[in-house]
Parts: sequence; structure tokens; C-alpha cells
Amino acid sequence: MADKYMELVNTGFTKKLAKLLGLPRPPRLRRYGADTPLLPGPVLVLGQSPKAQQLSDTLISWDLDVRRHDAGDTKLGGIILLLDELTHPEQLSPLMLAAGKALRNLVPGARVVSFSRQALDSDKPAVAAVRQGIDGAIRSLGREMRGGATANGIVLQEGTEITSPSAIGALNFFLSGRSAYVDGQFLTVKTTDGELPEDFHKPLAGKVAVVTGAARGIGAAISRTLARDGAQVVVVDMPQAGESLAAVANEIGATTLQLDVTAKDAGQQIIDHAIKRHGSLDIVVHNAGITRDKLLANMDETRWDSVIAVNIASQLRMNEIFLAAKLPGLRIVSLASTSGIAGNRGQTNYAASKGGVIGMVHSSAKLFAAAGGSIAAVAPGFIETEMTAKIPLGTRTVARMVLPSLMQGGLPEDVAEAIAFLSSDAAAGLNGQVLRVCGQSLVGA
Ligand code: NAD
Repeated sequence: MADKYMELVNTGFTKKLAKLLGLPRPPRLRRYGADTPLLPGPVLVLGQSPKAQQLSDTLISWDLDVRRHDAGDTKLGGIILLLDELTHPEQLSPLMLAAGKALRNLVPGARVVSFSRQALDSDKPAVAAVRQGIDGAIRSLGREMRGGATANGIVLQEGTEITSPSAIGALNFFLSGRSAYVDGQFLTVKTTDGELPEDFHKPLAGKVAVVTGAARGIGAAISRTLARDGAQVVVVDMPQAGESLAAVANEIGATTLQLDVTAKDAGQQIIDHAIKRHGSLDIVVHNAGITRDKLLANMDETRWDSVIAVNIASQLRMNEIFLAAKLPGLRIVSLASTSGIAGNRGQTNYAASKGGVIGMVHSSAKLFAAAGGSIAAVAPGFIETEMTAKIPLGTRTVARMVLPSLMQGGLPEDVAEAIAFLSSDAAAGLNGQVLRVCGQSLVGA
């Protein structure tokens, strides 16, 4: 239905009619394609930073046409704002206004990406003010973008640079079609850890990845994307979902493991399968999840407990087993939800489980880093799947339309792209983060 509407308001006579009637016209998002360029036009780099030249060289090595300071009337595929050296809010104006002028020349699906430094309590007030101010400015800019363009930011912690591996990895992700539904978000580069892939189209080459809840929906999309990016995938789901699980596995050359993730030995079964069949275990995506929505006043024990058991308790138990096994370089990516951040009516149990994922990720980062690994989460907003198909049509339609600039729900592939990036070695310096894939909305399952 969302697709039909988008088709109508973006083609032929009905496009003109929609324009005339002032109907919202959700843009087509620019998504990843192996044969499409990283950006749909030249990139303008604004601002100064000690490593600006090195950054430009990297952009050129990605076949981008790089313009510095002013691009005149050239149509642009992206703008990179180097704001990491600013020390007072008054210094923002020339760069933000230059970006504002260049916005008129952005082509559909363009990207704006800022680099800034993390605001610390120990900063001088003016320094903290400009750093935190950038956060507000970029989030607001995301809401002003048109034509499926987005604005996101990379925040550098002390000791990291715009050229640190995870800063470059995050930049590539934000510029590319992989981040189509990520808007108004920040990734913080915490360390100089991380290794860039030889081939940005195959960042997971040689890795063995396990995806739970892989028989359908977002889990199936994650499995396809990890396989596309070069990983050998193991797909895991309940025995009842065996047939669809086998279909996903056949499609991508994965092996299957029928398993209820709430089983006490689920973690060990995953390790045993991956090692025995594929020789290692490098990535685990905790995607299996359920909803059992009810207002808390009407909630029963079964609904509450089953959601906690599947969505968070199982992950805590499996992670303990993975940590005890000391698997070198293991990367975990877990599925949170915007409900766990903003709350959602009827979802106290679900939001407790998804907020729980966020807490687990923050506190587990050091533990996984000890073995050279990492843990992160993706918090999807409104994603069109069988899970959200259960939301009443009226609410679903409103949920799509109120999305400030993208005006549509995301696709399972959009979540999968963020997970693929966070599970890659390029993201090691982003350990412990939660990335929202929500088109700047907080509505979702
Ligand atoms: P879905 O219901 O379509 O698929 C979930 C899969 O998990 C199913 O194949 C199911 O069989 C499997 N599963 C459930 N319990 C299991 C268990 N105990 N052991 C093994 N497998 C189990 O859901 P989806 O929409 O694809 O969501 C996937 C994940 O993304 C979930 O964690 C969900 O909470 C999260 N999420 C979804 C949305 C959205 O908008 N769809 C938004 C935010 C977060």
C-alpha cells in the first residue's frame, strides 16, 4: 500500500494531481546498489581540519569528485562539514550558512555528513556549547532535507581523528545508499580501532555470521545483506519456521540451525554449529523478537514474561556463553527499537525488553572489547514487516506520513544495512553504540 501510494504520487498524471492537491509525496530513497556510485554527484567539503587533505584523498580514492569551500552552481551529491575544530558557537555561522547555500544544489538522495567533537563536562562552556549545538543543528537539518536526502553526523572522541578507521567507515556508510533510512543520527568514534575493508562492496568477506529469527522479516533481510557483503551465514529460527528458514538458506547458501533462542544452551549450540560447519564464529545478530502488546492494566504474566524471555533474557544468556568462549574479534549486533527509547502505548513489556537491549549493549562493550570484539545495537523505527502489519491501518498510515522528511516507513533492508555495517571490522571503534534506523521518527514496533 505504501509502495502503491508512492508510485502514484511520483509518476505521470497522478504526480501532477498530487502536487496540485498538496498531498504528501514521499520521495524514492536512494538505496545501495553494487553498480551505483557512492554518491549521486560531486561532494563539497566545507571547513578546516588538520586532516582535511587526507580526508579529501580518501574521497578521491572512492571515485568522488571533491570540491573544497565553494562549488558554485554545480549540482551536488553531498556536503561534508568539518566542524571538529570549532571552539565557540559564533564560529558556526560561516560554515552552516555556506552549507545552507549549497543545499539548493543538492540532487535527490544526497547526503550531508558532519564531523564534530564530543561535548564533555570538562570542556570550557563555549567549547561544550558549540559541540552540543552541532548535534541540534544537524538533527534539525535532517528534518529540513527534501528528495530523500539525509543529514547525519560523526562525533569524534578524544584521541580519534576524522581519518580514524571507524570515522572513515562511518563516513562511507552515511554517504552510501546503505544509510537510506538513517536520518538525523550520530555515530561516535570512540577509539582508533577498526580496519577498513579492501573492498567496500565485500566488507564481510571471510566472516561467519549467525542471524537469529532469520526465517522472515528483518532477520531474512539481514541474512541476505550479510551474505551479499561476503559473509558465510548461519540462519537460526524456531523449528516451526523450518520451511521458510530453509528457503532463506537456499537463496543465500547459508546453513540452518533450528533453535529456540530461549533454550538454556542456545549460545553453545550456535558456537558448536558455526565452528563445526564453518570453522569460526565472527558475527552474531540477535534479531529474534516478539511483541505481545497490551496496556499494562490488562497485561498478563504470559505476555510480559514471553517478551522479556525472547527479546532480552535470551541475549543476556547467550552473550555470557560467547564471552566465556573468548571467541577472538566476535562482533555482536542486537535489535533494539525506538519503543525502547521513546516508549510506545501498549508496549510496556516490549519497551522494557528493548530498553534492556540498549542497557546491555552499553555495559557489555568493554567485555567484548577485551577479546578484540564489539557489541552494538540498531533501533529500528517504523519498518514495514509482518510485525508492523498488525498495527491498525489508520495508525500505520499516520505513522508513515508524520515522518518529517522521508514520509515513509523503512524497509527490512534498511535495518539490515546498518547491521551489516556495525558488524564489520570498520566499525570496531564504534563499540557500544545504538544507531537508530527510523527516518527520524520515533513511531514503530
Ligand atoms: P517478525 O515477527 O517478522 O520475525 C521475527 C522472527 O523471529 C520470526 O521468524 C520468528 O519465528 C523468530 N523468533 C521468534 N521467537 C523466537 C525464538 N524464541 N527463537 C528463535 N526465533 C524466534 O519480526 P520483525 O518485524 O522482522 O522483527 C525482527 C526484530 O526487529 C525483532 O527483534 C523486533 O523486535 C525488531 N524490530 C522490528 C521493528 C519493525 O518495525 N518491524 C521495529 C523495531 C524493532
